[in-house]
Amino acid sequence: MKNRLILIVLLSIFVFYGCSPGLHRESQFLMGTYVEVVSEDLSAADIVFGEFKRLDSVFNIFDTGSELSRLNKAGEIHASEDLFEIIKKAKQFYELTGGAFDVTVAPVSVIWKKAIRSSKLPAKEAIDEALSHVGFDNVYLDDNSRQIKFLKLGMMVDLGAIAKGYAIDKAVLKLKEAGVSSAVVNAGGDIFCLGENRRKAWAVGIQDPRIAKSIAEKIELKNMAVATSGDYEQFFVFQNKRYSHIINPKSGYPADSGIVSATVVTKDALTADVLATAVVVAGKAKAAEFLKEFAGARVKIIDEKGNIDEL
Ligand code: ADP
Ligand code: MG
Repeated sequence: MKNRLILIVLLSIFVFYGCSPGLHRESQFLMGTYVEVVSEDLSAADIVFGEFKRLDSVFNIFDTGSELSRLNKAGEIHASEDLFEIIKKAKQFYELTGGAFDVTVAPVSVIWKKAIRSSKLPAKEAIDEALSHVGFDNVYLDDNSRQIKFLKLGMMVDLGAIAKGYAIDKAVLKLKEAGVSSAVVNAGGDIFCLGENRRKAWAVGIQDPRIAKSIAEKIELKNMAVATSGDYEQFFVFQNKRYSHIINPKSGYPADSGIVSATVVTKDALTADVLATAVVVAGKAKAAEFLKEFAGARVKIIDEKGNIDEL
């Protein structure tokens, strides 16, 4: 079963480059995932990798020297432009999704990351204790001084569901500044397609989760982003129940909304990355509500039974 699920995630989104002489493809492991760049322009990959490296040194929660780790340790910081901007975006999405998306879920998500590694169910007391330190309402932001301050002890931020999208968008800006007008940036399935692939839109395939090697849909993207979140990426099974790395910040337990995977197509990678996670947490009914605020977003979901639906 696990093998089949891993196959699904490997195939869940991929880009068709066709028979494409002249297209250069390079990848590097950055921000905990493979970042792939495809472009006719030889300079594109280094521009993207450079931006990912720069931002990883700000956002990496596992690196004790990163700016994010310093915030988490001290509970307060005068932030760099990048850290402040991403936290402000995270706040907007917290509000827009009714709390389904909450980067302050970190005290809880850390417990579940350990649980997934050891395949051991954490104690309810530990979850409840961690949950008492969760809630974006207790983050103070000052636009003028870029101060970020946690109003409760023991709070922590985890940017795992937004950092890749943010980095892709910044890397695309850098590409445009450098005069690159055509490229694909793919960070572990979070993708932005810049411009065209020689006068045609870039083609991205979404794997049908039920039928191996079959494409549920082929979408054409031009200056658009796509991202997928799902409970098959990182999880463990305990007494026939699946526990994943996407957490419901209200309960402190892994998302249990009936949606196992959400794919979002929208104008920017940050919004796609965030909404994909938020839809899995919120479930169909609540997601349909907040998606009204994102008129341009196309959202495909797969439920526990394997049914594919559009929101
Ligand atoms: P991936 O990064 O594996 O593609 P996501 O984009 O869905 O998947 O991000 C999942 C990560 O986001 C988790 O590993 C955790 O760090 C963090 N996270 C989990 N639940 C939430 C949530 N409800 N809101 C914000 N961040 C979350
Ligand atoms: Mg995400």
